[in-house]
Amino acid sequence: MLPFSVLQHAQQDSINFRNSGMGIMEISHRSQAFMSLCDEIRLHIRQLLNIPDNYTILFLQGGASSQFFMVPMNLLAPEERATYLNTGIWSQKAIKEAHIFGKIDIGFSSEKENFNRVPQPEEFTVTEGAQYLYYTSNNTIFGTQYHYTPETEAPLVCDMSSDIFSKTIDIEKYALIFAGAQKNMGTAGVILVIIREDLLNKAAENLPTMLKYRTHAEKDSLFNTPPTFSIYIMGKMLEWIKEQGGIPAIYQQNKEKAALLYQTIDNSSGYYRGHAEKGCRSQMNISFTLPSPSLEEKFLQQAQAAGLNGLKGHRLLGGCRASIYNAFPKEGVEKLTLFMQQFQQENPA
Ligand code: PMP
Repeated sequence: MLPFSVLQHAQQDSINFRNSGMGIMEISHRSQAFMSLCDEIRLHIRQLLNIPDNYTILFLQGGASSQFFMVPMNLLAPEERATYLNTGIWSQKAIKEAHIFGKIDIGFSSEKENFNRVPQPEEFTVTEGAQYLYYTSNNTIFGTQYHYTPETEAPLVCDMSSDIFSKTIDIEKYALIFAGAQKNMGTAGVILVIIREDLLNKAAENLPTMLKYRTHAEKDSLFNTPPTFSIYIMGKMLEWIKEQGGIPAIYQQNKEKAALLYQTIDNSSGYYRGHAEKGCRSQMNISFTLPSPSLEEKFLQQAQAAGLNGLKGHRLLGGCRASIYNAFPKEGVEKLTLFMQQFQQENPA
């Protein structure tokens, strides 16, 4: 979801962006209006996440999935090692790509438990001399989330695609974070990368120009035509987050929303079962099952009829999943929890 006010801004600015007489989808990416917009958005990001000057903010393309290869391509030489924490499909995909570029060690895996948890703080290992430790802070499909930042000597790399801007982070613990915009900060098409400057020089010279972080850092993300509309929407989302009271306020809202849903699951005497272990439940994606596939089907149909869309679980896990990203309102969660209670009463196991 996007907040209604963001859509309203987009509607107006699609016709006339900042009195330029042209819409945001029509102006040149090299116009003063667009370049100023990018500067403003970078400032919003710096302020919201408290990013110091020695980090560069990049707006890239190719989906968050492209970062699965860009990270190792830029940070890992063939003889070097990196450690990955395997906590779900998105980590697995990143691991697969990383193998192309260097030597990969798996510091933890919950694959045998069908990815129902992330490691405890002392439960993972990082290979000595690892060029970086990579993890996925929120596992979108399985509904698990780290509630701490992994401590390591190695530079820390994180895929924050499904929980960026949902809680405060200590950016100085990270060497690189990336996230697709489409969940918590806008719409598909732009990838936010925040990279510590010293890592920009790590990539070999002979990489394709477009795939080097350095290229985009040197050109303020205007090496080629950027996804202007997606960047614009991201800016509006960040303004909206600021209007809500910034990340601490958004975090509080997210916490309350998730708590309502987990309470409903926990108070259902086992009718609804959460997939994630309690200590690592996600505040963004709540994956759960009902007593039988036929009840799940009925649940999804009736939910849809009641205006509660998109509750079908990811095809790789099945069941149901409520994704309650930043812009999803608390009233929506309240409506869903009431619906869940009523459905249980009317459809005993
Ligand atoms: N990482 C995570 C955690 C995700 O949830 C997703 C998409 N759901 C991706 C990466 C891949 O993003 P994209 O589709 O933008 O490539």
